[in-house]
Amino acid sequence: MSQPPRSPKEARRLERLKNGSRAARDVRSPKSSAARQRVQRPPPVLGSIGATSDEPTVVLSKRAVDRLAQGHVWIYRSDIAAPGTLSGGEVVRLADERGWFAGKAFYGSKSQIAVRLLTREDEPVDEDFFVRRLSQAIGMRDTVRPDPERRRATRLVHGEADLLPGLIVDRYADCLSIQTLIEATDARRDLFAALLERLLAPRAIVERNDVRVRAHEGLEQRKGMLRGADPGPIEFLEGEVRLVADLLTGQKTGAFLDQAENRIEAGLYARGRALDCFTYGGAFALQLARKTERVIAVDISEQAAAQGRETAARNRADNVEFRVANAFDLLRAESEAGERYDTIVLDPPAFAKSKDTIDAALRGYKEINLRAFHLLSPGGALITCSCSFHVDEATFEHTVLQAASDAKRSVQVIERRGAAKDHPTLLGVPETRYLKCLILRVL
Ligand code: SAH
Repeated sequence: MSQPPRSPKEARRLERLKNGSRAARDVRSPKSSAARQRVQRPPPVLGSIGATSDEPTVVLSKRAVDRLAQGHVWIYRSDIAAPGTLSGGEVVRLADERGWFAGKAFYGSKSQIAVRLLTREDEPVDEDFFVRRLSQAIGMRDTVRPDPERRRATRLVHGEADLLPGLIVDRYADCLSIQTLIEATDARRDLFAALLERLLAPRAIVERNDVRVRAHEGLEQRKGMLRGADPGPIEFLEGEVRLVADLLTGQKTGAFLDQAENRIEAGLYARGRALDCFTYGGAFALQLARKTERVIAVDISEQAAAQGRETAARNRADNVEFRVANAFDLLRAESEAGERYDTIVLDPPAFAKSKDTIDAALRGYKEINLRAFHLLSPGGALITCSCSFHVDEATFEHTVLQAASDAKRSVQVIERRGAAKDHPTLLGVPETRYLKCLILRVL
């Protein structure tokens, strides 16, 4: 038996020895039609010696290989050559233009993001692989947010950032709410439900696949029970506050868990009269209520305010008043009336949903922050957030500075925060980093 090649160069030498010529056919650009035809045939073999599986091979352009090397996990369709036989949702083997192994990935047939990396190792992607990935993700949460009695809510799997692209798993007390956002995870949702059941023995598993991003993957809107019966509203603790999420009817998977630590932290700075704009179910408001005389919590949705009132009653927080209003109008009216607040929270929905709307989004952020600076008493705290991925940290901070400067206030930055620790980001994948939360004090 001959030894496997130790380097690409040596492999080419061996190949030349075997075939008597260079395998030049394998080094063409994947964009040429010749290359596209080529991938109908068995994929390049130079690097596949000792392969662990017979998955179809997707050939990556040089640019795509570089992108993976820079830490990214998404490859666009224009940077690959895939066999025409792929139907979408399969695990594929990635190879560079010379046939060298570059990783294994989920393949999507509809989205512009054709490839999402699962592993950089040449290892089998089977049930054991997914058990390991899920266990690693869950293990990290057990460390950063231990909850042996299961009374809290935690994001257990955060998609790409846990190298489980297109899979979200949130635990609310003893129930799970999951999203399978891409073809490959959607096709395996029964497998994931079974593995999660084995690992966590939840009382119920809900799927919240009623999200628009699934349209890019050609997937329909769907929600319902995957395991167990509808658990109804579930109570869980956030810090000392009791919150309620209805996994089938709440926003996202039930609540906005990425802000959990920021809400608890905001409670530290709360005092006097407080205003929580864009309150949804009152999760910030109830943290503020523990330290303040009075909180006004504002949301444009009647349903959100109703849920907030119910949650306030559950916490015996009778110092919170929920109002159904447009926060822009309310902020303007309050500042024109010369009102003063000691603590303000601004946690709006993503104003910039795409690149085209960045300018309008920045005007929106500036407007609400400007009004807040007008309303804050000296020494007052502003907790101001943006969950628009398209507005980066520096741009958001600059916008807040412009608002402070228009309001002629000097502002201290006490904390620059992001999403909670159970929503990690992946180094090299800016798309996993979207939430910004500044804790400020006006002087
Ligand atoms: N702060 C909440 C999450 C807010 S999500 C929490 O920590 O859980 C954004 C909320 O803003 C949604 O509930 C939405 O109904 C509300 N909203 C959207 N536009 C609004 C507007 N113009 N005025 C007030 N609320 C608005």
